[in-house]
Amino acid sequence: MTGSPIWHPFTQHGLGEPIPRVVRGDGAAIWTDDGRRIIDAISSWWVTTHGHGHPRIAAAIAAQAATLDQIIFAGWTHEPAETLAAGLCAMLPDALTRVFFSDSGSTSVEVALKMALGYWQHRGEARHRILVLEHGYHGDTIGAMSVGARGVFNRAYAPLLFDVGTIPFPDNPQTTYDALDAACRAGAAAFIVEPLVLGAGGMRMYPPAVLAEMRRICAVHGVLFIADEVMTAWGRTGTLTACEQADVVPDILCLSKGLTGGAIPLAVTMATEPVYAAHYGPDRATMFFHSSSYTANPVACAAANANLAIWRDEPVRERIATLSDRQRTRLAALSRHPRVTNARTLGTIAAFELDGDDGYLSQRAPMLTARFRDAGVLLRPLGSTLYVMPPYCIGEDDLDTIYAALAEACG
Ligand SMILES: *Cc1c(COP(=O)(O)O)cnc(C)c1O
Repeated sequence: MTGSPIWHPFTQHGLGEPIPRVVRGDGAAIWTDDGRRIIDAISSWWVTTHGHGHPRIAAAIAAQAATLDQIIFAGWTHEPAETLAAGLCAMLPDALTRVFFSDSGSTSVEVALKMALGYWQHRGEARHRILVLEHGYHGDTIGAMSVGARGVFNRAYAPLLFDVGTIPFPDNPQTTYDALDAACRAGAAAFIVEPLVLGAGGMRMYPPAVLAEMRRICAVHGVLFIADEVMTAWGRTGTLTACEQADVVPDILCLSKGLTGGAIPLAVTMATEPVYAAHYGPDRATMFFHSSSYTANPVACAAANANLAIWRDEPVRERIATLSDRQRTRLAALSRHPRVTNARTLGTIAAFELDGDDGYLSQRAPMLTARFRDAGVLLRPLGSTLYVMPPYCIGEDDLDTIYAALAEACG
């Protein structure tokens, strides 16, 4: 055996690429053990919203860890979870009345799929087909991979992935509507979508009116609409949730990443009353059969409560609006470069393609990642797609450094 025993995610150790050791994070920056300051331009993979080491979140974690660190959640409850559930219900649409806890975005999706199938099973209707949007990503567990795009990422596991109905991405919305309507008519349990922007699918964006129409079609056929807002919620797209921009209320909503401000793992799957009611009754056989050891971990819930308090007390929406403007201005300037195509923004997200693509496995993305790192910027291209998704507290100087590094990469 050579090297560290650590097996990193999405890393080909055989290439021997350097893996910097990070020792500290503060605001929009991290520091490596050789004393270098690196700007976290992708919010540590889309999770850090208010910045690293927000004092209120850090304090809430410390206090809760010293009070009650962990407790079984089947048949027991605690104040941080109750406060969080009430807070989420108060912030989000009234129809989402129930909160189920888990610990990652993937798990929140698994829970959503199980809720949808349980709903139909307990209502005595044999619906189990899941509809998905082309290019979607919902996580790396088997169920979440099944409802996501197929490719080199999951080829080895394809025999285990269940069959789904894939609805074309709305490049031409009418095609999407027709396909969705036909698939709903043929019988489906649920349709799962990332609202307004498909993250891992290459920051592909589509307008709120399309989201609203897809939701309407599902409602007509009684097909449950699952909004996977694991990446899009908590202000990423400019509003608390992306669904809000389309006046869409899903039947099931998945939240994770920014739920704790990005400090500690936690997820929720929220459901409407009919979904909950289908599982409710005197028969133990219809209870929702899902749990994980750390369901509603009190420390994670305390961090999420601090996040909700930050949303209530601090000018988070103003910060998001300011960052969105700054991203838009800088991307507009960058997009004058001839190699930049398809420049687009949504809220705090800015993305574009760099001309001369050769796919996800090309050498270019890792080479760029290394160049950005050497320039003091943490960026990780998705194939030929480059994007900037920083914490909301980032300053103008750091944004300038990021865009200077991008301009340099366009060469
Ligand atoms: C990141 C992501 C997930 C998976 O979340 P994990 O916490 O990494 O399991 C699911 N859905 C979307 C839309 C995501 O961006």
